Amino acid sequence: PRLANQIAAGEVVERPASVIKELIENSLDAGADRIDIDVESGGVKRMKVRDNGCGIGENDLPLALARHATSKIETLDDLEGVETLGFRGEALASISSVARLTVTTNDSENGAGWKAASAGRDMTVEITPSAHPQGTTIEVKDLFFNTPARRKFLRTEKTEFSHLDEVVKRQALARFDIGFQLTHNGRVIHSLRRAKSLPEQERRVAAICSPQFMENAVHISTEGAGMKLNGWVALPTFSRSQADLQYFFVNGRVIRDRLVVHAIKQAYRDVLYGGRHSAFVLYLEVDPKVVDVNVHPTKHEVRFRDGRTVHNFLFSSLHRALAEVRP
Ligand code: ADP
Ligand code: MG
Repeated sequence: PRLANQIAAGEVVERPASVIKELIENSLDAGADRIDIDVESGGVKRMKVRDNGCGIGENDLPLALARHATSKIETLDDLEGVETLGFRGEALASISSVARLTVTTNDSENGAGWKAASAGRDMTVEITPSAHPQGTTIEVKDLFFNTPARRKFLRTEKTEFSHLDEVVKRQALARFDIGFQLTHNGRVIHSLRRAKSLPEQERRVAAICSPQFMENAVHISTEGAGMKLNGWVALPTFSRSQADLQYFFVNGRVIRDRLVVHAIKQAYRDVLYGGRHSAFVLYLEVDPKVVDVNVHPTKHEVRFRDGRTVHNFLFSSLHRALAEVRP
């Protein structure tokens, strides 16, 4: 099974950032509202994700580490309406086939938890009692220690960390209702408390994107054609050309889409005369029926049933917001 897992791991586990993405999604699925991520050396040496979710019962522990063991699909029908983020049931198995993985967890309110470490060729899982508050801590050490070919593809610690940080930022922007902390080599990089009110959310966005972005952004909150658009777009006074400061979420998922970028660029060009870099953090809510989200784990694509309506709505919303504050 180890070989099969390692092959599957090629799909799921490309670098530390992909591990962190899977672990955060599991924590979210487990209903956590606080997720602490602690990594060393860009994540290559060690990654630890701790949550206060539902935890894993002792009996379910070996299963959680086995391939195609997901607790999230009961019947084939569920496949149609998967609401949880993970449903393939292979992330943990894949990760543990290419790293040293330890799960410490507790599914009750007493402090007595369980620890499971998978090791060895046949991935035997050994379970021992271990204190843990309700929730789960997953530790992943020495990524790709047994797959040197893949290890070679890892970049510098700095680059790997920036990918990992990007994953955390996206999640933190997508989920204001979750507290996040990210620590790298003992240094706290983000410490984000749950953000309910608009000022709290703006503080979070400023912490993630930069205070300058927030100081030079206009807030958008508009509805039309069965859609809702919320978020912030930078004004031309935001001089830092952070071309990568472009976050667009559709129903809570970050996506990259040409139609979206085109609509935003066009609104910018129209109002601000010129090809300035646009910077934005925007949230579009649409009826799930009018959008197909590509469920491939590493892609962030959507297909709108009626692209023109979406384009028009985005363009006119941004055009209005930008024109209102135009000096
Ligand atoms: P999937 O998320 O696709 O079900 P994973 O391999 O990511 O598959 O996880 C396997 C199973 O382990 C999950 O279905 C879930 O039951 C359990 N699990 C993993 N991480 C957590 C967590 N942080 N909290 C609670 N349960 C978890
Ligand atoms: Mg998962």
